[in-house]
Amino acid sequence: MARKDCPACGGTGWKPVETGGVRRVTRCDCQESERTELLLKQARIPPRYEHCAVENFDIRKDQDSGQPNPSLVAAKLYAKRFVDEYPTDFGLLFVGPTGVGKTHLAVAVLRELMLRKGVECLFYDFLKLLKDIRDSYNPVSQTSELTVLQPVLEVEVLLLDELAASDPTDWVRETLRHIINSRYNQKKVTLITTTHGVDEPPARREVRMPSGDSLPSLDRVLSHLGPEISSRLYEMCKVVQMSSDDYRKSIKQAGYKFHVE
Ligand SMILES: [Zn+2]
Repeated sequence: MARKDCPACGGTGWKPVETGGVRRVTRCDCQESERTELLLKQARIPPRYEHCAVENFDIRKDQDSGQPNPSLVAAKLYAKRFVDEYPTDFGLLFVGPTGVGKTHLAVAVLRELMLRKGVECLFYDFLKLLKDIRDSYNPVSQTSELTVLQPVLEVEVLLLDELAASDPTDWVRETLRHIINSRYNQKKVTLITTTHGVDEPPARREVRMPSGDSLPSLDRVLSHLGPEISSRLYEMCKVVQMSSDDYRKSIKQAGYKFHVE
């Protein structure tokens, strides 16, 4: 589709060019940009993440060393390489504590696949997806389960944001299993973000979540989903661990309490 008001081609989608004195027509760039705009719209990335690019992902410095956090340096590099090398036969699973930038990087990958490679993508918050599916069961609802699920199953690259795993019901497990398995069987790429603590070396085992619980390891987080789903996720995705020492400090700080408060 060409842009109707395009000054270069007058809306035809073909613009005149002259090479070596010979005039001919060539495909106008506005055809591409219209497609890109459509892709961006269909991807349904929330406005707060619309600016996200790999380039503008800020790598925090560790307070102790003053050096850029190595896990974030690596994560940024993986994201860039993934876009460069796409199409790939695997996705990415971004794991780490809240606020470390998992969604930023995952959305950046999604946007750059659309902008640079014209790939059809879809963003879905995991809890929102479950809610949309559940709402579709309502008899007065205008949508069916299939209307909600079809794009999730069929889009070339899906980003499932904030895959939460604590205490899933059988229905949640079954729904996720269905999505993950059918995308796996169709060799479609899935990007996932999931929140969990950092894997601590033995000496730092005292680090706790603000609630006082110990930090869950990725295995433990995924095991809530059942062995089938968690092993499938490992098979489908490269795990990208993200952490920062600020987080450890703030967690540790939260553990210091006065006896009387
Ligand atoms: Zn044009």
